[in-house]
Order: sequence, then structure tokens, then C-alpha cells
Amino acid sequence: MRSIFFIFFINFLLSNNLDFDGNNAFNYLKAQCEIGPRHPGSEGHAKLIKYLKSHFTSISDTIEVYNDTINHPVSNKKIEITNLLIRHNIKANERYLFMAHFDTRDRADKDKDPNNINNPIIGANDGASGVALLMEISNYLNKNPLGKIGIDILLVDAEDMGRSGYKDEWGLGTQSFVKTYTGALPKYAICVDMIADKNPIFKIEGFSYQYAKDLVYEIWGIAKDLGYKEFVWQLTGAIYDDHYYYYQGTKVPSIDIIDFDYEHWHTIDDTVENCSPKGLYIVGNVLLEFIYRKDKR
Ligand SMILES: [Zn+2]
Repeated sequence: MRSIFFIFFINFLLSNNLDFDGNNAFNYLKAQCEIGPRHPGSEGHAKLIKYLKSHFTSISDTIEVYNDTINHPVSNKKIEITNLLIRHNIKANERYLFMAHFDTRDRADKDKDPNNINNPIIGANDGASGVALLMEISNYLNKNPLGKIGIDILLVDAEDMGRSGYKDEWGLGTQSFVKTYTGALPKYAICVDMIADKNPIFKIEGFSYQYAKDLVYEIWGIAKDLGYKEFVWQLTGAIYDDHYYYYQGTKVPSIDIIDFDYEHWHTIDDTVENCSPKGLYIVGNVLLEFIYRKDKR
């Protein structure tokens, strides 16, 4: 009896038998990589922006485009950047924001081979994975419309241009966005980055715990309810990712779901072959559960 009750209880918790399509998200990861390197100023960067606009246009309520010009932190050259804000259920006042950077790094400076360190990376995990997940979340929201809450998807540019030790040089797209954006703010922001490792593990990132402890408890709690052991209750170092700059500019509690134990980080081996749909599937289901619990509350 107890076990039957337990099964019913778990089914009740899993609002709608949510089933995020990790394989389709992985196809979006591949499609971005097929474009080639996508750092600001590159041909691939312009193609990617076009590709993203065309993906989101028919499945969301609106897309707002934020253009800016920044200086490259190393070469100091002027570079055009673009942030995209995509909205679902635009009429809702209670909103939650998901963000990911779409740019890739213009130099593989962590590569072991010195001949590679000035070459751009493909960024299958660092760049494409977070965007791929949000592309598929957007598909899901389009097919399963929200009632009470609204979801915003912020795709940011120029996250990955900085030098180690210079914190103001990272998250330049987000830094630009928070300076120019004047609209209503979400209740929480969740950043996803580097989520497609073959052996994903999501520890609790330092700034997330510092600035948005309640949200950390909520997300890691959902992962536990869904039986995902990949979300571990272990604090790890603070990372200057987009959630940090978003929080600094808005004071909206913001977390980063990131798997920083990726051995190919900032190397030319950050490729499709070194990624898998597994982490996309897990994080996708956790975020869908988060969204639809809030919507049905
Ligand atoms: Zn990076």
C-alpha cells in the first residue's frame, strides 16, 4: 500500500509527465556547430543571429533585439553585439527569465597545443548547449501554453571574450543589456551554460548560493524529486558567468546551472563528439518542472 501511495504521490509531483526532448535539443546544438565558430565579428556570428531569430519568431510572442557596440577586451577593436529577448505569455505579470550566451570564444587559450591557442573554438558545450536547451524549451512552451506565468528567454552575446583575472571583461552582452533594459523585471533568473558534457554533474555555483539561496534550494529540490543524482548538493567556486552580471545590474536573484568539470573547456576539442544529449535532457526536465509547477500553483 505504501509503495502504491508513493507512486501516486510521485506522479502527482511530476505535474504533466513532462518529457523534455533532449535529442531534439542536441540537434539544435549540432546545427549551431555546423555554422562554425560564432565569436562576435565572425561570419558565423552573423549567421547564428539570423538562425536564432528565425527559430524563435513563429513560436514565441515577441522577440526584442538589443544592438550595441563594444570594445574587444584584448584587441580593443569596435565590435557589434546583439542580445535577443524572447517572450512567452507576454501578458503575464509574474515572470521568470532563462538565459544563455550564444557567442563562442575567439581563442582556444586553454588548449594543450600552443599552435591552437589563437584559433577560435566551436563551442559545442560552451555556447551551443545552453542555447540549444532554451530553443527546445521554447518549442515546449509553444505547444503547452502557459496560463498564469510568463517566461522570458534572454540570449546574450559577448560572454566569452575576457582574460583570466579581469572580471569586467566577461559577460559583456549581459552588462550591456542590464544598462539599456527598462522593462519589468522577472522574479528569478536562471542561467544555463556548459550543460552537455557526456558525464554531466551540476554542483552549486558560489554566486548562486550567495545571491539566490531560495532558488538554489528550489531547483536542486526539483532535481531530487525527479531522481536526478547529477544535481549534487555540493558547493563549488564562484564563476563570473552571465547570472553574476545580470544580478549586479538588476538585483534579481539569479543562479547558474553550469557543469564546470568539462575537460575540453576553451580548447579546440569543445566539439559535438565530446558532448551528449544527457545533460540537456536532465536540465530540460528540471526547468520544465519548475515552470509548470509555478504555472499551476
Ligand atoms: Zn567560455
